[in-house]
Amino acid sequence: MAALLEVSGLEAWYGESQALYGVDLHVNEGEMITILGRNGVGKTTTLRTIMGIIRKRKGTIKLGGKDLMSVPLHRTARYGMGFVPEERGIFATLTVEENLKLPPVVASGGMSLDEIYELFPNLLERRNSPGTKLSGGEQQMLAMARILRTGVKVLLLDEPTEGLAPVIVQRIGEVLLKLKERGMTVVLVEQNFRFARKIADRFYLMDHGQMVSDFPVHELSDRMDELNKVLGV
Ligand code: ATP
Repeated sequence: MAALLEVSGLEAWYGESQALYGVDLHVNEGEMITILGRNGVGKTTTLRTIMGIIRKRKGTIKLGGKDLMSVPLHRTARYGMGFVPEERGIFATLTVEENLKLPPVVASGGMSLDEIYELFPNLLERRNSPGTKLSGGEQQMLAMARILRTGVKVLLLDEPTEGLAPVIVQRIGEVLLKLKERGMTVVLVEQNFRFARKIADRFYLMDHGQMVSDFPVHELSDRMDELNKVLGV
C-alpha cells in the first residue's frame, strides 16, 4: 500500500542558504510520526516546506498519490494538508468562537463546532473569550481546532507542547490520541520525548537537514545510545 504522504529527496533554501539536503519521509494513513532532532537541524523547515510555505525547494511531495510540488500555497489546504505552527497564529482580537468560524471549511470531513467543543471542552467554556485572554495551552488547542475545522487529512504540528504546563501537555496528548482513533494522520515535531513516545507510532531522527533513521516506537529503548548521540543529550 502506498503511503498517504510521501516525501523524497526534499531540499529547501532560505535565500542562498540551504536548509534541507534530501529529506525522505513517508506516513501511512492513520499513522502518527514524530520528528526528533537538535535545534536547527531542519525540523520546522521540513514542515514548512511540505506545506508549501517555503517555495525554494526541490524533490517530491505526494499526498494520496497527487503531486503537491506544483500546487500553490493557498491550495495546499484544499488537498487536505494542515499546519499548526509553533507560534500558533490565532487572531488575538477575536473570540474563541469567532476564530473557529473564521477559516473556510475547505475539504469534506471538516469538524463541526459541536465536534470541536466535544474534543476540546475548555474551548467551549472559553467560547466568548478573546484570543488575548487565553492561556498558552488554550491558544494551542484553538490553533489545532481551527485547522481541524478545515477537514485536513494530514496534520503537521510544530512543537505543540512547547512552554506548556505538564497538565496541559497531558491534555494535548489525550486530544492527539482521540484524533488517532478517528484515523487522523499526524506529523509531529517535538522536543518532549516522553510526551511523543506515548502517542507516536514511529520516529524519524533528523540531523543536518536529512533524516538519518526511522524506527517504530517499540525500538525506542534499544536506540537510546544512537538518540543521545544525535540529540546531544
Ligand atoms: P528549532 O527546534 O530550533 O526550530 P529546527 O530543527 O526546527 O530547530 P529549523 O528552524 O528548521 O530547525 O532551521 C533549520 C536551519 O535553517 C537552521 O540553520 C536555521 O538557522 C535556518 N533558518 C530557519 N529559519 C530561517 C529563516 N527564516 N531564514 C534563514 N535561515 C533560517
